[in-house]
Amino acid sequence: MKKNIAVVGAGIAGLTAAYYLQKSGYHVSVYEAANRVGGRMSTDNVNGCLIDRGAQFLSMHYATLMPLIHDLGLQADLLEASSWTGVVRNKKVRKISVNHALSPILSGYLSVKEAISFLVHLQRWKKKILSFPLDDYSAWAEFDNEFSANFITREFGETILEYMIEPQMQGFYFQAPEETSKVQSLMLLNFALRKGSLRSLRYGMSSLPEKLASNLNVTLNCPISSLTVASDGTVSITSGTKIFQTDRVILATPAITSKTLYVSANEIENKLLQTKYSSTINIGIVTQKNWKLPRDLRDAYGFLIPRRERKLIAAIGIESNKNRDSVTDGELLNIMLDNQHAVILLNKSDDEILKEIMPELECYFPKLSNSIRFSHVIRWPEAEPLSFVGRSKLIKEYKETLAPHASVLLAGDYMGFPHTDSAAFTGKWAADFIKRTDLVD
Ligand SMILES: Cc1cc2nc3c(=O)[nH]c(=O)nc-3n(C[C@H](O)[C@H](O)[C@H](O)COP(=O)(O)OP(=O)(O)OC[C@H]3O[C@@H](n4cnc5c(N)ncnc54)[C@H](O)[C@@H]3O)c2cc1C
Repeated sequence: MKKNIAVVGAGIAGLTAAYYLQKSGYHVSVYEAANRVGGRMSTDNVNGCLIDRGAQFLSMHYATLMPLIHDLGLQADLLEASSWTGVVRNKKVRKISVNHALSPILSGYLSVKEAISFLVHLQRWKKKILSFPLDDYSAWAEFDNEFSANFITREFGETILEYMIEPQMQGFYFQAPEETSKVQSLMLLNFALRKGSLRSLRYGMSSLPEKLASNLNVTLNCPISSLTVASDGTVSITSGTKIFQTDRVILATPAITSKTLYVSANEIENKLLQTKYSSTINIGIVTQKNWKLPRDLRDAYGFLIPRRERKLIAAIGIESNKNRDSVTDGELLNIMLDNQHAVILLNKSDDEILKEIMPELECYFPKLSNSIRFSHVIRWPEAEPLSFVGRSKLIKEYKETLAPHASVLLAGDYMGFPHTDSAAFTGKWAADFIKRTDLVD
C-alpha cells in the first residue's frame, strides 16, 4: 500500500481529497502557495464585514459538499437564502421565487405564452436529465456534442436563451452560451427542476475549507514549482530549495498551474490541462448605515443582468440579505463583471473600476455613490474553467484509461462542473481512486 500522498493546492478540491484519504489512514501532506487555504472559496474580513471573495452560494442539492458539511459539524452554520431572486428585463428587475409559481409571469419576466412553452419543453427534458448527477461532469458525456446557444435556441427558443440561460452562464460562470457546452445548460435546467433555495455559511465561505484544513497537515506559503516522477513511480515535488518525496500526488491546482508542473502528462491529460478560464472582477460595496435598499429588493438575495440589458455587470448579490451578520451596519452588495469587461479592466485601479461600474449600478440603486462606506475589489483572471464542447467526454476518457498505478492524479473544477461541489467531487474521486487501486496492488 502506498501510504504517503502529497496534495498540491488547498482549495476545496485538494482539501476534500486530503480529508478522505487521511480518514482512510493515509499519511497526507498538503502544499499551498498562498498564506491561507480555500483558493476561490475564501472570505476576507474587511472592517468587520465578511466579504466572500469567490464562491458566494451553495445549493442544498450539492451532493458532495452537503454530506461533508454535516460530517464536519458545520450544518448549524448553513443559512438558507431568501427564495427571491431577479432577472432584469426591459430595464427593470423582475422578481422570481421558486415558492411562487406565478412570479415569473406576474413580475413580467416571462409572458404567459413564454412560460407555458418553457414548462412544456422542460417536462420533455425532465425524463432525460433528472437522474444525472450535478457534481460528476463526466457522467454527462453523451450530451456533450454542441454549444449551449444552438441547443437552447432550437429546443426552448431565443427568449429562454437570452433571459434564462445566458444570464446564468455569465452571472455564475462568466462565460457565453456560444462558448459553453450544452451539458452546462442541462445542468442549469436540472437545478431548476430540483427547485429548492440556496445556502451560505454564517462565518463566510472560507469556514468550510478552514475547518477541513484544521485537522490536516497543510504547509502554507509553499508554491510547488516542479514535479518529477521517478522510474519506480515515486514523485519528488519542489518548492524553492525544499524537495518533498511522496508515493503519489494529487494535483489540485487550476489547469494553468498543473500544466506547468506536470510535464510528463499524456495526450488526454494534456488536452484537459489546456482548459482555458473566464475572468471576472468581484466588487464588494458596503453602504452607510442609513442607506436603504430599493423597496422591491429588500427580500431578494441578488439578481442577474442579461446581455441584452447589460453594460458590464453580469450579477449583483445582496450579501446582507444572504447573511445579515456579514455586515455590522448598512448593506453589502457584491457586483460581478462579465468576462468581456473584466478582461479589459483587470489591470485598472480600484477607483477606475468603481467609476466604470457606477452608472450601471445606479440604474438599480439610485444615488448609491453618495452612500458608500467602503469597497473591496477582487480580481480573478482565472475565475472559472470554460466548458468547451468535448470536456465532459475527455474527463470520462481520462477516468476510464488512468493506469491503476498512476503516480499523478488531476483534480479541481476544470475536471468537473465549474462550481465548488463539483471541485470537491473531483478531489473525492481522486481519493477514492487511490484507495481502490491500492487495494488492487
Ligand atoms: C467570483 C466567483 C464566484 C463564484 N461563485 C460560486 C458560487 O456561488 N457557488 C459555487 O459553488 N461556486 C462558485 N464559484 C466557483 C468555485 O469557487 C470554484 O469552482 C472552486 O472554489 C474551485 O476549487 P478548486 O479547489 O478546484 O480550485 P482553487 O480554489 O483555485 O484551489 C487551488 C489552490 O491551489 C493553490 N495553488 C496554485 N498554484 C499552486 C502551486 N504552484 N503550489 C501550491 N498551491 C498552488 C491556489 O492558491 C489555490 O488555493 C465561483 C468562483 C468565482 C471566481
